[in-house]
Formats: sequence, C-alpha cells, structure tokens
Amino acid sequence: MNTETIHLMDHPLIQHKISMLRSVDTDTKDFRQLVNEIALLIGYEATRDLPLEDQEVTTPLMKTIGKVLPKQVCLVPILRAGLGMVDAMLNLIPAAKVGHIGLYRDPKTKEPVEYYCKLPPDVSDRITMVLDPMLATGGSAAAAISFLKQRGVTRIKLLNIIGAPQGVETVQKAHPDVHIYLGHLDEKLNDQAYILPGLGDAGDRLFGTL
Ligand code: URA
Repeated sequence: MNTETIHLMDHPLIQHKISMLRSVDTDTKDFRQLVNEIALLIGYEATRDLPLEDQEVTTPLMKTIGKVLPKQVCLVPILRAGLGMVDAMLNLIPAAKVGHIGLYRDPKTKEPVEYYCKLPPDVSDRITMVLDPMLATGGSAAAAISFLKQRGVTRIKLLNIIGAPQGVETVQKAHPDVHIYLGHLDEKLNDQAYILPGLGDAGDRLFGTL
C-alpha cells in the first residue's frame, strides 16, 4: 500500500460515527444521517489542499485581500450509494458541479461497464471528487476514474467511508496519481466481495431496499 496517496481518517468523530454506521441496529434514517455526517468530515480533510485565490473584500472598516475558493470542484457520486455523500459535500462546497457515473459488473467478463455517465462540460478543468461509501474490490472506483481520465480529467480524489485492502491496492495500481480519503480500512473481502467487518450493502441500507 502506498501510504503517500492514502489518507486514513483517524479523527475520533469519524471513527465513532463509523461504528454506529456498521451496527445492524442502525435504521435507514440514522444510516443516511451518519453517512452524511461522515462524508462531511472526510470531505473536510479531502478539501484541505484546495488552491485559493486572492479577492478584494471590503469590511466595514477598510479594504483587504481575502482568500477565496475559485469555482473548481466537480463531485462524482458512483450510483447509487455515492448519492448518500453528495449533500454533505455540497454543504462544504456549494458551488461544486455534480456529475454521475453508473456502473454494473458484466456477468461474463466481470468487468465494470458504464451504463450511465453525465458530467459537466467543463469537468476536465475541475478537481473531481469521486464519491462511494464502500471501496470493496476497487473495480468500480478504478473504472470510474478511468472514465473521468478518458474525458480529460487530470485532478481526481477518491472519497470512501470503508475500504478493503484489495480495493485500495487496485485503485493505487491503476491510478497511482489519485489520492484516496478513507474513513476506515477494514480487514478483507468475503467471497461475495462484501467488506468484512463492513456494514453490509451501503446502497440498500441508505435507501431502505433491504
Ligand atoms: N458494496 C457495499 O455496499 N458493501 C460492501 O461490503 C461491498 C461493496
């Protein structure tokens, strides 16, 4: 694992909320709320190095030069569980644009296939943040990042709440330039590619489709 491009969140608030998120007793409403709160905290870390610009500001007393964020971010949730992280990120970066990528796994080749992709026309000028609560095999994340690169995006970050070592390795191998912001690194995958100990199916738990 390349420790230079993985940012593991050790903040106590994040760890506490992830433990609550894992619990089988956490219902849909609380699960959604926790995903939102955790995404906000991970988003805070992932935005730490966003470039700032100078802008003149007039206070009640005088003019000064303030630092502002230029309009520069595009959020890309991977459907459908990534949607659960969008509102929190928009609270942090209200001017961000939002693209969507949907992928399914081809039953024959086992490769991720894009079934939906809608991105803002200026996506290649933006810092793009790919959102998915779970980084399991890493196949979907790596494919989504490849699709973005094919469309000219050069600055990409990946934000996940829980990840497996295999997923981190897959993304790092395919995309050594991409920084991963991960709430917690779990132990492994089971033979159905669920993360252990994990939290089950994040999409089902977010949308109550269990
Ligand atoms: N996707 C999920 O929602 N959960 C897992 O454990 C793995 C992939």
